[in-house]
Amino acid sequence: MPDMLSIIIPLYNEQDNIGPLAEKLDAVLPSLGNPFEIILVNDGSTDDTRARLDALAAGNDRVRVVHLRRNFGQTAAMMAGIDLARGDILIPMDGDLQNDPADIPRLLAKLDEGFDVVSGWRKDRKDNPIKRNFPSKVANGLISAISGVRLHDYGCSLKAYRRAIIKGVKLYGEMHRFIPIHAAWQGARVTEVGVTHHPRIHGQSKYGIERTIKVILDLMTVKFLDKYAQKPMYLFGGFGLASLLVSAFFFVFMLYCKFVLGKSFIETPLPLAVVMFLLIGIMAIFMGLIAEILMRTYHESQDKPTYIVDCTRNCKEPKSGP
Ligand code: UDP
Ligand code: MG
Repeated sequence: MPDMLSIIIPLYNEQDNIGPLAEKLDAVLPSLGNPFEIILVNDGSTDDTRARLDALAAGNDRVRVVHLRRNFGQTAAMMAGIDLARGDILIPMDGDLQNDPADIPRLLAKLDEGFDVVSGWRKDRKDNPIKRNFPSKVANGLISAISGVRLHDYGCSLKAYRRAIIKGVKLYGEMHRFIPIHAAWQGARVTEVGVTHHPRIHGQSKYGIERTIKVILDLMTVKFLDKYAQKPMYLFGGFGLASLLVSAFFFVFMLYCKFVLGKSFIETPLPLAVVMFLLIGIMAIFMGLIAEILMRTYHESQDKPTYIVDCTRNCKEPKSGP
């Protein structure tokens, strides 16, 4: 029995993209020979998305629809789809026709070669170069360097991975792009393939440059929490000791200047300002981390959902074959 595929597509105000998207999926999926389901997550749209998704589900029981109560964001919507998916292989993608379902067979071919995660690489990305493409390049470079997982385009929604690799991963913020990183850290084999990227024709992008900043902040969270979630004291304690050492060094240096060299430059406010701003900056980052740890504890202890389902269509039927 070939692996079952779950295509997962978050949609927020994409009314005019739904029809063409369904056609494009229909041109690819049935010919693959795998059983499949298409999970369309309506992330609190205020346009005609809801009605159009319902109409689609009414005519095709392999189309499963989840309506969320309100807009929870792309990552949460994707998580809703993942939670519902019954497939062995999950294939998330955007619902605005910027990703192309015609690329799915090439992603699957890589999984067949033995990889667990295949990430799309938009080699010729068709978004705003200044607001989106350039900041993304910088962010991708940083993510690659910090995570040690070498990909070119973490942000491409179109990916394919075995369901097992996301077990226990809770996604929030902008973290759907870190799925390959989590997986690689757990020993999964990760690769990427070039995918086509189309300009958006209908509707609007929901993001601007602020998204890159959020991504970089999320990256710090992912990296530090992975390393120090068990023993935060190694992080905070290490920082505290280092800070004590630095202040001790300055103190000794001051004594040396005064009693051995007989001169004093510390009367100018400059060294103080430098040290102060450095410390404040570092403290702010670490405070952020503490808040992040608290927030996680809060979420996990309450089991607070990252999304709330309003209602679903075609979600009770058993698995259907091709
Ligand atoms: N999206 C969503 N919830 C949101 C924002 C976006 O479900 O709050 C969906 C959106 O409908 C699209 C995908 O996520 O299917 C990517 O969004 P968008 O095209 O705005 O992002 P971009 O391509 O500009 O990065
Ligand atoms: Mg888009």
